[in-house]
Amino acid sequence: ENVYRVKRWGNGYFDIGDNGNIQVIPRYDQPGVKIDMREVIDEMVDSGIEFPAVIRFHDILRSQVELLNKTFRDTIEEAQYQGKYLGVFPVKVNQMREVIEEIVDAGSRFNYGLEAGSKPELIAALAYNTNQDSLTILNGYKDEEYIRLALLGLKINRKIVIVIEKFSELKKLIALAKQLDVQPFIGLRVKMMVKGRGKWESSSGERAKFGLSIAEILNAVKLLEQEHLTDAIKLLHFHIGSQLTDIRAIKEAVQEASFVYSQLVKQGVPLEYIDVGGGLAVDYDGSQSTNDSSCNYSLAEYVADIVYGFKQNCDLASVPHPHIVSESGRAMTAHHSCVVTKVIGEIHPSGTQFSTRKVTGEHFIVTNMRELEQNFDETNFQETYNDSVQLKEQALNAFKLGIFTLEELAKVETIYWRLLNAIAGHLEELTFIPEELKEIPEMLSSQYLANFSVFQSAADSWAIDQVLPIVPISRLNEKPQKLCSLVDITCDSDGKIDKFIGEEAVASHIPLHQLRSGEDYFIGVFLTGAYQDVMGDMHNLFGRLNEVHVVSYDDDPKDFYVEEVVKGSSVENVLSTMQYTPAMMAQMVKKEIDQQIQRGLIKPREGVQLIDFYEDCLLSYTYLK
Ligand code: PLP
Repeated sequence: ENVYRVKRWGNGYFDIGDNGNIQVIPRYDQPGVKIDMREVIDEMVDSGIEFPAVIRFHDILRSQVELLNKTFRDTIEEAQYQGKYLGVFPVKVNQMREVIEEIVDAGSRFNYGLEAGSKPELIAALAYNTNQDSLTILNGYKDEEYIRLALLGLKINRKIVIVIEKFSELKKLIALAKQLDVQPFIGLRVKMMVKGRGKWESSSGERAKFGLSIAEILNAVKLLEQEHLTDAIKLLHFHIGSQLTDIRAIKEAVQEASFVYSQLVKQGVPLEYIDVGGGLAVDYDGSQSTNDSSCNYSLAEYVADIVYGFKQNCDLASVPHPHIVSESGRAMTAHHSCVVTKVIGEIHPSGTQFSTRKVTGEHFIVTNMRELEQNFDETNFQETYNDSVQLKEQALNAFKLGIFTLEELAKVETIYWRLLNAIAGHLEELTFIPEELKEIPEMLSSQYLANFSVFQSAADSWAIDQVLPIVPISRLNEKPQKLCSLVDITCDSDGKIDKFIGEEAVASHIPLHQLRSGEDYFIGVFLTGAYQDVMGDMHNLFGRLNEVHVVSYDDDPKDFYVEEVVKGSSVENVLSTMQYTPAMMAQMVKKEIDQQIQRGLIKPREGVQLIDFYEDCLLSYTYLK
């Protein structure tokens, strides 16, 4: 537990069982319901599902939706707040149909709605958010078609809020609303002065990409007044960035927004809703700090700061409490899915065996290195280390000058790595470890080769150094002895994960277990349900992963069933998206094989087998078997 901090980042959903396997506790209100992840994986293996694969726990998704809504409802009641909570889920955070369906279903009793940030997302929201009491909030830049779609939604009695991000959208909206004879439901997004904290802090401030300045808000109000549409202005929106690491940013934003809200209301703008956007953070590294991958607050604290903040400021200004809308995405979905992959090999700098036997006439550097090894004992760690580093350098220089053979270089390197291993073996016995020697375990660390693509499955780890928890699925009752980094199977040296949860700060290596021959070693990349699930790209044409959706039983707390299997990309699928025609490609290869048959270079039977093999590969999974 100390190594991987499962309980710290797991938000109550993950634990380690006595058998050393990861346990999933998918229902926040039923701690007795436990799913053994290794059992899920074994069932997948038995049914022939290939890895890497995404495992989704739909109960976690439901739990998060319920927790958010209940926390707001309870806090509103406790605070005697006059408004209601009407949250929306931002589709962009995970657009998968099954995710959206589950969220809409779990949220229906709370009138929990959807947020769309583009035309395609609005088209999805129109079809899936059919509850007429929940909101559909429309953000993002809008063209005429986008606005027409929104007005279509209003015509079928949906609560569609068109949030104005840019002044020019307002003019388009007014013209179309008149043309189609629909009373719009308008939100104004305000550019906030308060800065968010964390990687997305540029979402606020004067140079923010979205929103209206205060002057533009006042002009918008004036324009709508002239058009007799003042009644349509119902919502004030702000969003100061995703993954807000510091609660102070939220407190400050609530303060600023409530001043804007109350002054507008006092001027006669009939605002009824305040939308606080997204930003509720996920504690990916379990440190409960203001690290980029963490946050220094809980859901309860976040909700209380919003509800009590608006209440206090509105009471002071003697204006009604607005209904509260929030657009939390990351916190709703991050926990419910994880990527499971198998370690398929090890790349080790000191893993090669090479004979270092003495030969007559060898270079003295090799002789010196060998003597260093012979004289090594507990009294001379540091001296041996210093001398070996120097001899290795000398060997390289001698090689560059052409006075050292390849064989001699291989011998020096082999002894050097053996010495480092020997020193590392004694380090734990030392009461004081000299600074230079502390680096040895990292120098000796392995790279575990895992069958997945960072670009597809953990894009933010590569793009913005996001820390995602990485934990072996089994053997958690054994001390992990090997320090590793993780490399993927893409042909790119960037295709690796080297940001892990460390004891104090982010670590470049993670302790993992020694691989055992004949035994699968599965590792999970956790908390991938927000953004990672859907942002991945087609680097190396690996494509989407196989997926299983796991659900717990009501009557058996230890059992589960796989509700759905979604097949990942086949080679044929990914090639087609890149404009290839797989059937034609098979024909092209067949033609060449036929030519070789005619020339007598390939036997007809072998030719048939070759083309069958090519066609089978077209249909198969893109990842390694
Ligand atoms: N709303 C808007 C306008 C956003 O831009 C975002 C994401 O940045 C969100 C909601 C979702 O934010 P989060 O995932 O941090 O909850």
